[in-house]
Parts: sequence; structure tokens; C-alpha cells
Amino acid sequence: MIIAANWKMNCLKKDADTLINELIKSDNLFKKSKVIIFPSYSLLTHVYSKIHSSNIKLGAQDCSLFDHGAFTGQVSVEMIIDAGCEYVILGHSERRVMCKETSEEVSKKLFKSFSLGLNTIICVGENLQDREDETYLSVLKNQIKLSLSNFDKFDFNSSNNKLIIAYEPIWAIGTGKVATEEKINEVHVFIKNFIKDHFKTKIDVPVIYGGSVNEDNSNDIFKIDNVDGVLVGGASLKPRTFLKIIKNST
Ligand code: PEP
Repeated sequence: MIIAANWKMNCLKKDADTLINELIKSDNLFKKSKVIIFPSYSLLTHVYSKIHSSNIKLGAQDCSLFDHGAFTGQVSVEMIIDAGCEYVILGHSERRVMCKETSEEVSKKLFKSFSLGLNTIICVGENLQDREDETYLSVLKNQIKLSLSNFDKFDFNSSNNKLIIAYEPIWAIGTGKVATEEKINEVHVFIKNFIKDHFKTKIDVPVIYGGSVNEDNSNDIFKIDNVDGVLVGGASLKPRTFLKIIKNST
């Protein structure tokens, strides 16, 4: 199972230390499940110095489209790798909604991250209106098709880069509402099959679920057939809760 912790714009060094110190005590758990922490850019090197000899992996919450130059405030893939990251999250709904990031931009960023060998989590998810209108599958299809449109530039079948899709229904993020087992399974099967058909690959891309995952619901989520892990926001900031989620996955 993949357990990804999206800290978003939270934590100072002291908070990161408290969280990491608690997690590292249970380092043996991380051999069974792959645990990846996504702190803010400002904490990457600090967190890396604490986890580099553990089984916990490091990732960034976004990256720039560009390699270097006059792009004030942006951080390139090379810089992220230099800080110790092996992973990056692209296209999180908070970036798609608040920063108006498009799937085309996500696709260009994916090209950059894969070119430099960064494992990439692409987030997709429908909003409440799409769900109520029952257009969610075509919305997801479009997001995946466009976000992965650079994929043909890579030999998908032999690529060393790992692609992970995070299915995060927007109506479930930070709201306490979790999609039902049927809804999660339906979408995960749909995503896996769509990628196989559209990109003509036999690779079974891992699909992880995100949206109000906590210590109480994670056990049932891990039991769903086509769930390969979870992307956890709020609950990843509470060490005991996050450890319980990791334990439930093993
Ligand atoms: C997220 O932001 O990726 C997320 C899933 O958040 P939360 O777990 O808080 O719903």
C-alpha cells in the first residue's frame, strides 16, 4: 500500500520534528507500506535530514513547468530532487481550483518530472456538481487524458518512473465526507481500465484514494479491491492518527 501524507501549507520545523520523531519510532512499519511525506518547499531539506536513513520517502506538493530562470516563487524539478525528493504531487484540486492550474499544465509538469526521474502522483477528481449530474466519469476521463497527454513521449512499458493516480473527489476533501466503497471501487476500476485502453499498456497503474481518510475509515478503504493506497491531508498532521492509518494498511 502507498500512504502519502500531504501536509499542504502547514507545519514549522518544530511541528515537523514532532511528527517525524513519532513516525520514525515505528520505522519497521514502513517496510510493509510505502510512506511518503509531502511537506511545504521550505521544509524539504529539513525533513530530508531527519528521514534520509529511514524507510520514509520525501516528495514535493508541486513543481515548476520550467527548468530555471526568471520565474519568481517557483521551484524546479531539479531543485526538488536536490532537496532529497523522490516524488512529486501534480494537479492537486486545490491547485486546479485556487491557482487555475489546467490539465495541460499538469501534463507539461509531468513531462519535466519524468524526464528527471521523479515518481509522480497525478490527482484527479470530480466536484459535487459533476457527481450529482452523473458526469463524473467523463470529467475524470478528460482530466486523465489531458494530464497524461505527454505520456506517449515516454516508453510507458519500460519507463522507470512510477506514475500513481490519486482519485480525490473534491467534495470529499477536508469535508469529513468519504466516498462509499462502491463509488471508490467503480472509479478506481474505471481509471485503471481507461489508462490501459487509451495508452495501450498492460501496466496496472496504482490508484490511491484521497478525501477525508482517517483512522476510523481507513481500514475499510484498504479492503476495497482496487485501492492501492491513500493520500491523506488533515489526518497526516496528527502523528497517532497517521500511524494508525499506516498500521491499518499493513
Ligand atoms: C488532500 O488534500 O489531498 C486530502 C485528501 O485532504 P483530506 O485528507 O484532509 O481530505
